Amino acid sequence: MRTETLRRGTRFGVILFLCAAAFLAAFGQAAFASTLTVRVLDVGQGDSIFVGFPEGGAMLVDAGTAEAGPKVVETLRSLGAEKIDILVATHPHSDHIGGMLAVLDAFSVGKVWDSGYVHGTRTQQLFLKAVLDRNIRFGRPKAGFSEEFQGVLIEVLAPVKPISGTNSDANNNSIVLRLSFGEVSFLLTADMEKEQRRTVRRFPETTVLKVAHHGSHNGTDARFLEMLRPKLAIISCGAENPYGHPHREAVALLEEAGVDLFTTIGGDVVVETDGVAFAVRKAVAPEKPEAAGADPIIGNRSSRVFHVSSCDGLPSEKNRVYFKSAKEAEKAGYRPCGRCVQ
Ligand SMILES: [Zn+2]
Ligand SMILES: [Zn+2]
Repeated sequence: MRTETLRRGTRFGVILFLCAAAFLAAFGQAAFASTLTVRVLDVGQGDSIFVGFPEGGAMLVDAGTAEAGPKVVETLRSLGAEKIDILVATHPHSDHIGGMLAVLDAFSVGKVWDSGYVHGTRTQQLFLKAVLDRNIRFGRPKAGFSEEFQGVLIEVLAPVKPISGTNSDANNNSIVLRLSFGEVSFLLTADMEKEQRRTVRRFPETTVLKVAHHGSHNGTDARFLEMLRPKLAIISCGAENPYGHPHREAVALLEEAGVDLFTTIGGDVVVETDGVAFAVRKAVAPEKPEAAGADPIIGNRSSRVFHVSSCDGLPSEKNRVYFKSAKEAEKAGYRPCGRCVQ
């Protein structure tokens, strides 16, 4: 486990820092097993959110564009994911489901949740066919549905009912999820716009908000933020995207509400919580060894043996775990390979 670097936001940074410090002081690294991690991936313009559950389960909410698919797969592998228990397609836009084919090829999937909105695009047809071909359980959960998974409550807040005649019906029929673990909660709003927002009678208070529709002006309003009272907001968008996301109006509303704001531009945003406090950091590079300096040590997750990178007996990519040194590998309980490490 790498050391945490806590980034302080512009406003309420001190409070956040204290929360994070309390979290680290109380739990350190030993208790990471009982941590809920929500990682909003840097997929450029699009959405992909990885959820690591306290007992090792995994959920992926959207998979970015087709171009981002391989990066999503690589990130999930670097995090040690082997199976995706719940794969959610919030709505059929290509910046949310374009990467699904890469994900379905790389991981076994327990079940798929789909918005049920039929877009009729080739991207959606290929996605649905890939799910069908693999015989994966498939559901279209609606508002009111909930499931407890590894101590985390997953609630579906939308869709409440089918919506049509809006600027983007695909966006307005999104699956909106709330995750709660102890006292800390996350609202994943997909690309919900104002019409869908109005169909949800009440949004419960939420600790962390994945801002709707890449920070578009139609994804956020003052009343909504008053209901949520979020402490932290994360906008998933690409640098200099053609839509001008995040829009000034949305950012201004979040700032007025005193919310600490992160974007995925330049790196994943990682939030970890023990159910009481939370820590947030920006992961600038994939969690692999630093390029500079010593040769990385590569461990095999299943045999618990470690190798130097030139060894001809290296484990397959998905079984690898990287260490900075042989000492670090030994400390983690790995033993040296008899062939490559003397
Ligand atoms: Zn989108
Ligand atoms: Zn969309």
